[in-house]
Amino acid sequence: MAVRTLVLACLLVLAGCTTPLDPSTAASTPTATPVPADAPGGTATPTPTQSRSPTTTATSTATPATATPGENPWGTEPIVVAIENEGGRDRDFAALVREATRFWEKNDGQYLGFPVRYEVRPDAANPDLVVTFTPEIPDCGNVTDAVGCAPLLTDARQIDRPETVWVKTGLSDDSTALVTEHELGHTLGLTHADPPREVMRARSVLYTEPQPNATERAFPWPDGDFTVRVDAEDARDPAGAQSQVDHALTYYEDDPPGMPTNLTFERVGAETDAEIRIRFGPTPDCQASSGSCISTYGVDPDGDGAIETYTRVEITLVDLDTDAVGWHVGYWLAHAFGAEADGEKPPPFRDASGRERRSEWWK
Ligand SMILES: [Zn+2]
Repeated sequence: MAVRTLVLACLLVLAGCTTPLDPSTAASTPTATPVPADAPGGTATPTPTQSRSPTTTATSTATPATATPGENPWGTEPIVVAIENEGGRDRDFAALVREATRFWEKNDGQYLGFPVRYEVRPDAANPDLVVTFTPEIPDCGNVTDAVGCAPLLTDARQIDRPETVWVKTGLSDDSTALVTEHELGHTLGLTHADPPREVMRARSVLYTEPQPNATERAFPWPDGDFTVRVDAEDARDPAGAQSQVDHALTYYEDDPPGMPTNLTFERVGAETDAEIRIRFGPTPDCQASSGSCISTYGVDPDGDGAIETYTRVEITLVDLDTDAVGWHVGYWLAHAFGAEADGEKPPPFRDASGRERRSEWWK
């Protein structure tokens, strides 16, 4: 009998944060003096976008409050569960597997329609079921970002002991328990269309184990090859602004001290394609008093509310002299490349006077 495998895929949470520069110390000049600052409220707000609903169309028109009484495909004896950890390091998965098995023991009448009992013995010699924790889920249908995989078992004749379910390593405790519950649900005959929805739906928001935040990383990007889009339409002198940006980009291509090496920049036409976006004119978050601002966007896979790696940054320049544009862009690029504190930035961006900012500082 063919066994369908079903997967649970993972959605990462996208977060964003805006860091404006402090208002000018030389208030009389239209170009604000950027002072590096941790913006108040500058930490990212996670927006745990709820997962998409499964597209499966249930054939029944109403969801029964209680599952139709049926037969446990595993029989009446407790299901003996062994645990294999193919992950690189020691982690106590047994407690999380027990949390998952307890969930089904507690809710069997409501969701399964038959009683189920488990015996979790990580090293069991002849288990009925092995929960294998692995960094890479083996081929499981056509889903590429699967975090778990299990056979859908509805009939005793389908079961070939020991059956295996896979759960990805590296997830937080809560997410590990959730994925394990989900996969065990398949081995008890439940599909993505079955309740409880919060466990059995095909996609859920999941979190990884805690990881370093972008601001703690030496280089908070997946790689050093950047796409750049400059929208200079609203600059005082669009052509001059473009050339100022070029100076800043070339400066970073030439491996300035303390910065990552081998950075490349490719200008692209469409803003949506660009990882670095440079624009002119005020926004609600960045007014003329700021001079320039950076907004950072990225992913927050561990759900701690802070971005871990950037997917894009937006540099906004407000009402600046054309001659100062390159400096402001260069200043914020250092920030984007991991040098948040002024002391970590290349020399031209430490304590620069207004005159220095308008000079050919890249030389
Ligand atoms: Zn599934």
